[in-house]
Amino acid sequence: MRLEVENLSVGYGDVSVVRGVDLHLEVGEAVCLVGPNGAGKTTTLRGIMGLTKPTSGAVRWDGTDHASKAAWSRAHSGIALVPEGRHVFGPLTVGENLEVAVRAVGGKRIGARIDAAMDRFPRLRERRGQLAGLLSGGEQQMLAIARALVQEPRLLVIDEMSLGLAPVIYEQVGEAVRGLVSDGLGVLMVEQNAALAMSLCSRGYLMSGGEILLGGTVEEMSHEDAVAHLYFGAV
Ligand code: ATP
Repeated sequence: MRLEVENLSVGYGDVSVVRGVDLHLEVGEAVCLVGPNGAGKTTTLRGIMGLTKPTSGAVRWDGTDHASKAAWSRAHSGIALVPEGRHVFGPLTVGENLEVAVRAVGGKRIGARIDAAMDRFPRLRERRGQLAGLLSGGEQQMLAIARALVQEPRLLVIDEMSLGLAPVIYEQVGEAVRGLVSDGLGVLMVEQNAALAMSLCSRGYLMSGGEILLGGTVEEMSHEDAVAHLYFGAV
């Protein structure tokens, strides 16, 4: 299965933010979208997920163009979003958060799906009955990913996974993501932590000013001056 974003433009009201974005991803690979603050990375993900309706372009997934479809059509066809800021339901327990996520996509085998997600994050099993609002930031990020996983996606779209987390914690979360990719999941991530993005992904795209400037393997990207200037902050 393949995600193919073609000439995607997304804006807010009359303001055009993202213009002519082309990117692609196969399941089983992790790809990062990097670039400075305000480059339009989150807006690109919103357009792909249908949270902001694209003004033009295609979001082709497994051959079907979802660009003009409602956001839920992605969830039902195997794309799940892990949003920036986690957005777990604080007053619900860990288990309830996961159950709500399964029900949101009309999923069956609720217990088995929750068990499989908890196998990826054993810490969540220990915290199953605890209110999500009382979890640490790292545990909330694990829960946000687990909530996407119980929808049994083939593609995970992850926005700013490491934000606000200590290195030892995001390394743990990153290790789980690495396992998901090696088991065949596709991952598209926006990540401000360059080292983490480069260590998890095989390819990437550099975005600036609402456009993709270049794309390539992370090895190729690490040699690009533009990446160093715009993303790593080199002078
Ligand atoms: P960051 O890393 O800072 O989140 P980003 O690359 O993800 O940056 P976006 O969040 O996509 O960038 O923002 C791109 C531009 O769109 C910014 O100039 C931002 O001010 C603008 N923008 C974002 N959200 C909205 C909105 N809801 N309404 C209007 N403009 C917005």
